[in-house]
Formats: sequence, structure tokens, C-alpha cells
Amino acid sequence: MNTTPATDTGGTVGPGKVGPGIVGSAAVDTVIIGAGQSGLALGYYLAQQHRNFVILDAGTRVGDAWRSRWDSLRLFTPAKYNGLPGRPFPGDRLAFPTKNEQADYLEDYASRFHLPVRLNTAVTRLSHDGRRFHVTAGTQRWTAANVVLATGACQLPKTPGFAAELPSDVVQFHSHNYKNPAQLKPGPVLVVGVGNSGAEIALETSRTHETWLAGTPSAEIPFRHGRTAARFFLPVVRFAGMHVLNTNTPVGRKVLPKMAAMATPLIRTKLADLRAAGVRLVPRATGVQDGGVMLDDGQSLPVANVIWCTGFTEAYPWLDIPALPTNWREQQHRGIVDALPGLYLLGKDLIFAAASETLPGVCRDAKYLAKRLAATRTPQHAAEVQSELAG
Ligand SMILES: Cc1cc2nc3c(=O)[nH]c(=O)nc-3n(C[C@H](O)[C@H](O)[C@H](O)COP(=O)(O)OP(=O)(O)OC[C@H]3O[C@@H](n4cnc5c(N)ncnc54)[C@H](O)[C@@H]3O)c2cc1C
Repeated sequence: MNTTPATDTGGTVGPGKVGPGIVGSAAVDTVIIGAGQSGLALGYYLAQQHRNFVILDAGTRVGDAWRSRWDSLRLFTPAKYNGLPGRPFPGDRLAFPTKNEQADYLEDYASRFHLPVRLNTAVTRLSHDGRRFHVTAGTQRWTAANVVLATGACQLPKTPGFAAELPSDVVQFHSHNYKNPAQLKPGPVLVVGVGNSGAEIALETSRTHETWLAGTPSAEIPFRHGRTAARFFLPVVRFAGMHVLNTNTPVGRKVLPKMAAMATPLIRTKLADLRAAGVRLVPRATGVQDGGVMLDDGQSLPVANVIWCTGFTEAYPWLDIPALPTNWREQQHRGIVDALPGLYLLGKDLIFAAASETLPGVCRDAKYLAKRLAATRTPQHAAEVQSELAG
């Protein structure tokens, strides 16, 4: 196993003013934006290739995307699937780690393989001059031949517009900001969205608060989630998500476009569990009426708290490349953005397979991208990067 530190030029931003508002810049071969599991998995492979790269992350600690999720969250995937290349997840392989255990694993991984992660570095602009990318983070800038967008699939919390019409005394959060029931005030809770987040959070709030769960229930996996499933059934689900439902198979090409509009089936919490816990399942929330939340069947719920479990959208507000067509995100194959050589995506929903956003999928997609990056690295290109570094 190669644990040699990657050439760490990415962090050594040179001194001297190099442009308006920029106090340091460096040339690297590849910038990875995001040090979550995607960015780290790719970093592992690029370090093995002795490439000159840097991983930029807005967070203060590696693993914060996991740490910031709600307190009681455990992963749906068992430990045996949660490790990154070169380092299996430690401990019981059939256990479902807590979100903090997963976060700490990622932090340890970055440090163990000496990955060149720059924390507290939020990318504020990504541009392209026709030859090279320019990545700006505050007063620092990196020039690169390749940029990998590994900023996660859960970036911008989605909330319906009518959320703003709720009276100010109603406590409301998106699942992104929900931590535990102590954040709620006394009185009923409406959880909106019957996906996995909504089902798990509703089950939790039902222990302390009267809880309604609004939405159209998703399908359920046809077995009970747990150790037995981790041993016998989840391997089948993993196989299907990795090897059957991907863009290389006829069935994958047929099903994946439809999956984008479909809800993920409920994995751990079943509708029967919710009913048994006293959660009342109600139709979709459609608006606000008389200070309450109006439902699809016309009734209005007098809520004290609302938790929006209404999903996320990908967002790249800092992407400033006018040459990219508006549908550039759809024009990609296995994370390679066709419209602009050198631009890559990793860890995003369905970029290659149904599992592309999960830990096993990310690891495979990272390996593929690393191979592609190796193949596109001509001696001339390597020499150019070296000369820019020397200059
Ligand atoms: C509630 C929930 C439970 C889940 N459970 C599982 C599970 O059990 N198993 C599983 O495999 N998957 C699970 N997932 C999916 C998975 O965790 C995510 O899709 C995953 O986090 C994607 O990894 P990533 O590295 O691509 O992105 P993230 O982990 O989101 O990391 C992206 C990183 O990019 C950084 N970043 C973003 N914008 C910028 C910027 N402008 N500049 C610099 N840095 C930036 C962020 O700080 C962050 O560290 C779950 C997701 C959710 C929401």
C-alpha cells in the first residue's frame, strides 16, 4: 500500500499579489472540490499515481457533512460497505455505524494517507480560460488542468415556497438542520416528506411529540433492515445498484432515467412501525391556511413545529464558465463532463449507477475517474504543469 504523501504543492500557495483580491496562487494538475468520501476516495488513487493535486473543503473538519446530520442517524449501509479504498471500516462488519463514527473514519483516512486536504477553503469561483481552470477560494487561487466536483449530492435543502407563509411562532427546520427533538417546542409536529429522512425523524419525534407525517409513502424494501439483511439481502441490493442498474447495461439505461424522479424505498423504518408508534400518516402538504398547514384533502393542521424532509438539489453557484451549455450536468458519462475536457463529477446522484451516491458506488466511480485521469495525462501536459510550478 502506498502511503507516500502526495506532492503537497497544492497547499503551498505562493506569496505575492497575483490578481485583484488574490494574495496567493498555485498551479496543480488536479483540484478536487470537496473532501467528503468522494473527494477522499479519488485522492487516494491520485496519490498512488503521485499526481500533484489538492482537495479543497469548506468545512472545518473532514467528515463534517456526516457530523452535521441529525444526532441519532446511523448509516443504512453496513460497515463492510462503508470503507474507502485501502482501508476497510474497522470493527463489526455487519454493524451500522453512527454518523459520527463514519465522520471520524473519514478524518482518520485523510490523515493516514496524508491526503492534501485544505480545510476552511470554500470555493467561491470556478472559471476556465480556454486552457486551464482557475479555482478561487477567498484570496487564494489554484490553476489546474482538471477539476473534480465532489461537493456532494445533498447541497441545497429544498423547501416548498409556502414555508415562508407559516406564522413566525411555528418552529420549522429542514432535515439538514434538524438535530433532535429538543429543538422543538411543545405541541404537534408535522414532518413533511415520507422518504427515509422523514420516516426516521417522524419515528423519533413521535416519542416526545404528537406527530403527523405528510406525503405519499415511498415503497419499502421487502425485508427487515438489520444484521440479517446486512448478511443476506443487502449484498443483493448492492449488486443490483452497482452492476445491474448502471448505464452500461440495457436495463440500467432503461431504468436509471426513471429513477431520477422516483423516491428511494424506505429502508429501515416501515410504515407499520410508524403507525405502531402513533405517527399519523396524512396526505401531501400543499399550502398554508389560517396559520396551519393545508393538506391535499383540504384539511388544515394546527402545527407547532414543521420539519421539512423534502430533499436537496445539487447547486454550483460559484461555477462561472459561460462556455458550458446549460444542460452540462446531463451531458456526462461516468462523471466525465463531455462539454468541457478536464471537468469531472463524483458522488452525484445516478452519474453512472443507482449506487453512485452511496459509499460503494463512490469508491468504484473514483477508481474509474482516476484511471481516466491517468490516461489523459500526456507527458507534454505533465511538463507544462511542472514548468508552471517551477515558474
Ligand atoms: C440522511 C442521509 C443518510 C445517508 N446514509 C447513507 C448510507 O447509509 N450509506 C451511504 O453510502 N450513503 C448514505 N447517504 C448518501 C451519502 O452520504 C451522500 O450522498 C454523501 O455524503 C456523498 O458523499 P460526497 O463525498 O460526494 O459528498 P459530501 O459527503 O456531501 O461531501 C461534500 C463536501 O464538499 C464540501 N463542499 C461543498 N461545497 C463546497 C465548496 N464550494 N467549496 C469547498 N468545499 C465544498 C462540503 O464541505 C463537504 O465536505 C446518506 C445521505 C443522507 C442525506
